[in-house]
Amino acid sequence: PGEMETTSEVSLKDSLKRVFGYDNFRGKQEEIIHNILDRQNTFVIMPTGAGKSLCYQLPAIVQEGTAIVISPLIALMKNQVDQMNAVGIHARFLNSTLTKSESNRVKKDTISGIVKLLYVAPESLTKEENVAFLKQATISFVAIDEAHCISEWGHDFRPEYRRIKDIIGQLGDIPIIALTATATPKVQLDIQKNLSMDGAELYKSSFNRTNLYYEVRPKKNAKKQLIRFIKDHKGASGIIYCLSRKKVEEIAEFLRVNDINAAPYHAGMESKERMKNQDGFLNEDIDVIVATIAFGMGIDKPDVRFVVHYDAPKSIEGYYQETGRAGRDGISSNCLMFYSYNDILKLEKFNKDKAVTERENARFLLEEMASYADSAICRRKQLLHYFGEEFTVDNCGQCDNCVHPKEQFEGKEMIKLVIEAVGQTNERFDINHLAAVIIGKNTQHVKSYDHDKLDVFGKGKDISDENLWRSVIRQTLLHEFLKKDIENPSVFKVSKKGQEFLKKPYSHMLSKDHEHTAEGDNEE
Ligand code: ADP
Ligand code: ZN
Repeated sequence: PGEMETTSEVSLKDSLKRVFGYDNFRGKQEEIIHNILDRQNTFVIMPTGAGKSLCYQLPAIVQEGTAIVISPLIALMKNQVDQMNAVGIHARFLNSTLTKSESNRVKKDTISGIVKLLYVAPESLTKEENVAFLKQATISFVAIDEAHCISEWGHDFRPEYRRIKDIIGQLGDIPIIALTATATPKVQLDIQKNLSMDGAELYKSSFNRTNLYYEVRPKKNAKKQLIRFIKDHKGASGIIYCLSRKKVEEIAEFLRVNDINAAPYHAGMESKERMKNQDGFLNEDIDVIVATIAFGMGIDKPDVRFVVHYDAPKSIEGYYQETGRAGRDGISSNCLMFYSYNDILKLEKFNKDKAVTERENARFLLEEMASYADSAICRRKQLLHYFGEEFTVDNCGQCDNCVHPKEQFEGKEMIKLVIEAVGQTNERFDINHLAAVIIGKNTQHVKSYDHDKLDVFGKGKDISDENLWRSVIRQTLLHEFLKKDIENPSVFKVSKKGQEFLKKPYSHMLSKDHEHTAEGDNEE
């Protein structure tokens, strides 16, 4: 087919219908595809289920040559390739599961030009023999799926991803499309830097999952609460996430003795048993799957009606991903988390043996998780803020904090103090330091910066509750009077709105956090 025909609107839509059976593009798919066909670097940030795969599959088949798709999960690769082959697209994969002769065959077919999509694991990409092979192939573009794996600040760091850019560079001037379903502003910056695609066109769609109801409950009598919750969703499909394999087994057993059709899933199970449970869940033979976070990647069950976090997740990103498996079909679904500060302490222990920066990062992610759970601000607003998206609706009507608002208090003076503290410390400090300065705590750290001499030092000492101040600082951020430093997200800066507020402060309500203590936590 000639150049004109392949890139024209008519033929794109035509291929969409003919190959995939869809009548229309979704969201920005068409623009994205055009950008790739124009050989421009492209950056796609869309939530799971938005239709990212089509953004590289379609341009791959209407162009000469082979598109390389880098994907971190070998287990999912085969699935994707099978799906492609089922609709008549010549796709293959290259990873460590292939025998020598199988991989030779794949290479031969790629060089001859019949393979349109070649899925490659990052560790296979960086192998020298494979680089040599790729040099012989005609490559249309490289798609990097799960691009957040490139960033150590994300929740899924894969060091091999760091070498991708270098390899692509050796193959020539090839356009790149990076795709991910989660990227905080910092991770986004990291992806762009690591792939040297500053000039790339960014396509970002909203992360707001309007049909999901978010709720956090204190972890008290959690088992009893869990039974009641599941019985309220009788017969519906649901996922219960637990932190450990042992807990998974225990809860699955507990549900079964309570007449709930549940089964466990974790990486420590025999793979036959595990697959049986997964299939059972997909075919509706099993209502509730109790799982570690190993469960869910690439599982596309549209009618999951609830996701319960029996234990606190490790990060807000993880939480968003896991809850995102509910309600893919757009029908109202529930996301319930049981929370106790004890869980955070337990999770922190897991990080003990990590390298310093990794440990600090993991702790930072955990702290953010904890403040999400404690906060009485709209859950949706918090989640979206985390991904750099502003949500200005006052009451989302679809989260516990909006439906059962906590008592509010006038925050004008406190907000003012917080902004002053951030300004006077030159926008370089984290929440603990700011709180210490405000209440006038003479710590070593505060003194070493001469912050005990600032005008704002101790100005908030009438309210000596440091936790309350930390909560106010977080709310000042969530209400956009402050912003995070993108490079260093634990550091706060004053936003434009904050500067204006300082000039002319106005009434602004704040809410008291929920009180989730480690004491009195009782799961039974
Ligand atoms: P993501 O990779 O963003 O999580 P997928 O690429 O897996 O999402 O797509 C999610 C679902 O949407 C898939 O079942 C896919 O076939 C479907 N889909 C994608 N694009 C379209 C479209 N234009 N019209 C209808 N369905 C689509
Ligand atoms: Zn809300």
